[in-house]
Amino acid sequence: MSETYFTDYEDLEIHELMLKDRPRQKAYFDAITNNKHLFKDKIVIDVGAGTGILSALCAQAGARLVYAVEASNTAKIALDVIEENGLTSIVKVIHSRIEDFVLPASSEKADIIVSEWMGFYLLHESMLNSVLFARDNFLKEDGIMFPSECSIFVAPCSVPSLFDYWQLVDGVKMERFGEKLRLQKSKKPEIMQLNQHDLLHEGVILHWMSLLDINAEELNEIRFKEVLATQTAGDHQGFCIWFEVRFPDDSVLSTSPLAPETHWKQCVILLPQNACEKLEEKSPVAFQISMKRSANDDRKYDLEVELLDPNTEEHPVPCPCHMTKC
Ligand code: SAH
Repeated sequence: MSETYFTDYEDLEIHELMLKDRPRQKAYFDAITNNKHLFKDKIVIDVGAGTGILSALCAQAGARLVYAVEASNTAKIALDVIEENGLTSIVKVIHSRIEDFVLPASSEKADIIVSEWMGFYLLHESMLNSVLFARDNFLKEDGIMFPSECSIFVAPCSVPSLFDYWQLVDGVKMERFGEKLRLQKSKKPEIMQLNQHDLLHEGVILHWMSLLDINAEELNEIRFKEVLATQTAGDHQGFCIWFEVRFPDDSVLSTSPLAPETHWKQCVILLPQNACEKLEEKSPVAFQISMKRSANDDRKYDLEVELLDPNTEEHPVPCPCHMTKC
């Protein structure tokens, strides 16, 4: 497990980034405050409360008791924020890992678990495991999860912002450098914001999960195989991965290139070289993707993309398999 995981969250600029991410804030604000009937007089656990923002929103929406559980020293700041808002009688800040939290003997289990646990390509950081721990130990039978569902999407894409520049830099051709740079960048996923026109397809769901149903083992490895027809012509330079989470009222927080930009941006896996020259619209693209929890660090995943021959769904020769770690 990453040693610095919790101390990294003591950097206030990480919280600044999240709190200033308006699509993120709006999604949680709307999902909580538009559903006051769900929160009224209820017990809530906020898993990974950070600065306490979501706990405060739940209290303001009418919750009777909110456990704001935060493992890092940011818990002290959450305490301040809760005091600043006059909510200390409702929100109990608990400085603890959720895995070490013990519900007071006098307390019922929670009606609702709220958490903002998502990382790059959804699963990076593996905080979802802690949320599932909370669900299994502290949520009532008929309890609710905020968010309640999530999906990971993938689409073939071009990445002109990375490559076009090298055609001519101040009158000097730099394409050979560009090719080497591409090779280097293809070894590690790139977190970047794509332009919606860079997508060669609107995206397919690589994996869908209901947070009430999944179990932690299912998160160890996800495999997906698909043949799709491009919807736009363009250079096929990589695969773009993004996610959506859905709240119980069906509202959605999306990190798609088509949605307003969030701090998660997208995760782009670059192909070391173009699979072929410019793809026409309706060209078949066959591939398989695996996201496997890394053996060295269980908060990370190895992402592997393999291009397949669309006619046979087998590896063409030479095999353009592509492995990338993050
Ligand atoms: N809820 C806050 C912070 C989200 S960031 C917000 O929406 O702004 C995730 C937070 O969860 C971090 O502060 C991190 O320290 C905390 N966290 C991660 N895993 C945890 C665990 N197992 N137990 C308690 N806190 C955890």
